[in-house]
Amino acid sequence: MSIQQDNQFQAIISHAKEYGFVFPSSEIYDGLSAVYDYGPYGSELKKNIRDYWWKSMTQMHENIVGIDAAIFMHPTTWKASGHVDNFSDPMIDNKDSKKRYRVDHLLEAKADQLREKGEQQAADTLLASMDALLAAEDFAGLKELIIDQKIVCSVSGTANWTDIRQFNLMFSTQLGSVAEDADTIYLRPETAQGIFVNFLNVQKTARMKIPFGIAQTGKAFRNEIVARQFIFRMREFEQMEMQFFVRPGTEGEWYQYWKEARLQWHLSLGISKDKYRYHDHVKLAHYAKEACDIEFEFPFGFKEVEGIHSRSDFDLTQHQLYSKKKMQYFDTEINQNYVPYVVETSIGLDRMFLLVMANAYEEETIAKEDGTTDSRVVMHIPAKIAPVKLAVLPLTKKDGLPELARELMDECKPYFKCFYEEKDAIGKRYRRQDAIGTPFCVTIDHQTKEDQTVTIRYRDSMVQERVLMSKVKDLVLEQVM
Ligand code: ATP
Repeated sequence: MSIQQDNQFQAIISHAKEYGFVFPSSEIYDGLSAVYDYGPYGSELKKNIRDYWWKSMTQMHENIVGIDAAIFMHPTTWKASGHVDNFSDPMIDNKDSKKRYRVDHLLEAKADQLREKGEQQAADTLLASMDALLAAEDFAGLKELIIDQKIVCSVSGTANWTDIRQFNLMFSTQLGSVAEDADTIYLRPETAQGIFVNFLNVQKTARMKIPFGIAQTGKAFRNEIVARQFIFRMREFEQMEMQFFVRPGTEGEWYQYWKEARLQWHLSLGISKDKYRYHDHVKLAHYAKEACDIEFEFPFGFKEVEGIHSRSDFDLTQHQLYSKKKMQYFDTEINQNYVPYVVETSIGLDRMFLLVMANAYEEETIAKEDGTTDSRVVMHIPAKIAPVKLAVLPLTKKDGLPELARELMDECKPYFKCFYEEKDAIGKRYRRQDAIGTPFCVTIDHQTKEDQTVTIRYRDSMVQERVLMSKVKDLVLEQVM
């Protein structure tokens, strides 16, 4: 990350805290590493992103239904899914500092450094070697690559590395009050398994016909070893996942469909296409047929925000094996019983939140008519998901203006989130709304009393115009639906 990018990223983190978007968890006790709390505007924004996803999946697709499964699941679930044995990352420790690193992160950071020095070719070669060695699970080869690249620990500055080992990322806890009798259970590391184990319940009760999908949002937990970059990599986070069940043989088409559809979802928020790219996986899980990431250009480079995976019948077959319950579907069109294939879309809600914040943040210099300049920090959050849609601002606290403003508040409040404020100069109030990304501000002034018009001010262009107060609700609704 260049100094400029780093400054930009630090500015976003400070802004997120100062304006009530994201706080470090239990901050009065100095925080908890890689765990965060969402404040008043953050929780609104997060909810709006979740709702936007949920609506696009379950309301806009007649063949996708939702569930809300528990975080705790029978421990055999994680045996069947492969998480107990395989949900681990290759790690390496520096013997001098005792600091532990994820191997792929060390090598990716090196590739970033090479790219910054203009050595694009060397960076690409390094990443290609890493992908090939990871795919072959060649840990000795990976260690050699780290040594050949002269990668050193950021704390000790030495290349005194241990061998590479795998570390499981699941958190475990005990079910029941007496430890000796207790069963070890896990905090789910992904929401997907709650969907797989409910496949038949959902298919039967909602009378779903293949192809169909099951969507879910909820918390997931991973004991990430390298937890940094703010809410990009957290130990407790939220996922929005959808498993799409299809007839075997059609998974290739559906994979292409969802790969395209998911990118379109991102673009539907008005975020520039240039900021996105696909990364097709070279290292595929043994059961996976195809997989790709949708990557976004964060201030620290292009990184995964969402994964699309063609998972074959792996999960349902595994659960069939371990539970001894049939996980089959009878397809009346071809008169056949089969275990459906699955195409999954999986996006991190917190990571999407960071994407929206990073994309929205701008420190803008404004040229004024008298030749001087002014500046503002503005969050260009898409109107559809902005925490507050409309700020209603009476110009003064007297002359009946607050009463008129209250009338507008009462009219709009049931439809979208509004904010009322009568304190401070109007310019100062506009700036505060810019900083939280409110797309529309309405000022009630003395003219309102005469002709029932108000001044509406648009966040991005700062253009102001007079409109009838009775039109405000529909004008905002049109932009936020
Ligand atoms: P990464 O390679 O970044 O660890 P992953 O490939 O393990 O991610 P998946 O298991 O595919 O991630 O999870 C799907 C999505 O969940 C990711 O695209 C990401 O948006 C989100 N996600 C995964 N791990 C975390 C985390 N620790 N903190 C926040 N979001 C996460």
